[in-house]
Amino acid sequence: MSNHLFDLIRDRLPADPAGHLFLEVPGGLRWSYADLLAESARYAAALVGLGVKPGDRVAVQVEKSPAVIALYLGCVRAGAAFLPLNTGYTAAEIGYFLGDAEPALFVCDPARRDALAPVAEGAGVAQVGTLDADGAGTMAAEAAGQTGGFADVARGPDDLAAILYTSGTTGRSKGAMLSHDNLASNALTLVEHWRFTADDVLIHALPVFHTHGLFVATNTVLMAGAAMLFLPRLDPAAILALMPRATAMMGVPTFYTRLLREPGLTPEATKGMRLFVSGSAPLLAETHRDWQARTGHAILERYGMTETNMNTSNPYEGDRVAGTVGFPLPGVDLRVVDPETGRALGPDEVGMIEVRGPNVFKGYWRMPEKTAAEFKADGFFITGDLGKVDGRGYVHIVGRGKDLIITGGYNVYPKEVETEIDALPGVLESAVIGLAHKDFGEGVTAIVVARPGAEAPTEAGILAALESRLAKFKQPKRILFVDELPRNTMGKVQKNLLRDAHKDLYGG
Ligand code: ATP
Ligand code: MG
Repeated sequence: MSNHLFDLIRDRLPADPAGHLFLEVPGGLRWSYADLLAESARYAAALVGLGVKPGDRVAVQVEKSPAVIALYLGCVRAGAAFLPLNTGYTAAEIGYFLGDAEPALFVCDPARRDALAPVAEGAGVAQVGTLDADGAGTMAAEAAGQTGGFADVARGPDDLAAILYTSGTTGRSKGAMLSHDNLASNALTLVEHWRFTADDVLIHALPVFHTHGLFVATNTVLMAGAAMLFLPRLDPAAILALMPRATAMMGVPTFYTRLLREPGLTPEATKGMRLFVSGSAPLLAETHRDWQARTGHAILERYGMTETNMNTSNPYEGDRVAGTVGFPLPGVDLRVVDPETGRALGPDEVGMIEVRGPNVFKGYWRMPEKTAAEFKADGFFITGDLGKVDGRGYVHIVGRGKDLIITGGYNVYPKEVETEIDALPGVLESAVIGLAHKDFGEGVTAIVVARPGAEAPTEAGILAALESRLAKFKQPKRILFVDELPRNTMGKVQKNLLRDAHKDLYGG
């Protein structure tokens, strides 16, 4: 029987599965590829034993551990859709997601079982299992008790392998339905594009409930027969200590800014590394520059979404241009259109980014109208991101459509204003938002974090500096100072929280 995604992984196993490392928790568990095959078969058998049927969802909110990967692949092999949930979600949020997803089984941390079991019951979920980062819990016990072989459930390229909720940066999270082919084709593209081989060792310190850590990182490693060093969370000192054993790292921009604060970050410390990838949020040009100066490596920035896996990447060979997300990946069609007229735009014209390709998801779970509204008749998906393609073909993300500010009838792209403010001495970073304003509709407003150790910037000073740099309508009406910008686990600035916090600044 063929199981599209898992067969492709199996076809690409390293030559000696029992002797080849798949995953190591530093100071803890080590799994070879043979262990992974056995463990995922045990989880698959356990799921079938619990009555999980092909097409069912298995919702999982547990701390990062090797068992989560075995459970993910166990779901795939059992023909179910893996549905990971952010470990930060509260009981109320879990209740919402379980009600929406209607999984056959919900797996949570044993420590949260008492709190979450009633929530699951209230959402109509028949079964609750447990699993913790040390491999304890009912699911682990079920899996450990499986001794027979497991025959993978047949699944074709278009069958669902996962439902992944979006990060909820711009509104309520939506469940993105991802097929076996969505995941497999993107992983194979990344293996090729980023030159992954069985000799690679990836530093993996990302969460595994998000597309970045689960699919971009883990599926790419699996499809290359490579290995990963699995850290529970971002720990700059631990990452530095692992670099001599590793070849590559994938991280969000925060990884790079935090590592830059480590005195041990030197060309010597990173000399065995061949690749540093950044994504999920914009990488500041300054971070790109500082990283290159400190290590000699140019960070490779790429752009993707829960709904589309990876869309673009800077080149492996050739210029990795700071402030861009590179070129569309092979097989991905990308265009920039005027959001009002749908007309395709030329080089350097800013508009809505649309993508099409085998990477693009099957639609939003139980949101047929939303799905229909976000796809064009010719199959392009409207990403919601604004950007442009420059004369050399590099894609630039200018921001999200929802963050576009319309002030006095003019469009202001926050990124353009942020770039000018961030370049001022005394400024570490900024977020520019639109707030309700009775004269202008929206008032351009900058939320600024001062650079530690530098002379503190003032509102008047920043406004004066921007006068010669930006057209009048783009200049902020007010500058507010904060100690830090609100960010979610993936390092994304939560502009909705900033807009809420300051919504009455101009009297509403
Ligand atoms: P929601 O869709 O629920 O509002 P979200 O869009 O943040 O949340 P994700 O799918 O995790 O959820 O994130 C995808 C988004 O992240 C992209 O649409 C884009 O806005 C942003 N993004 C990803 N990579 C980059 C990058 N390299 N540069 C700039 N933005 C990026
Ligand atoms: Mg989104």
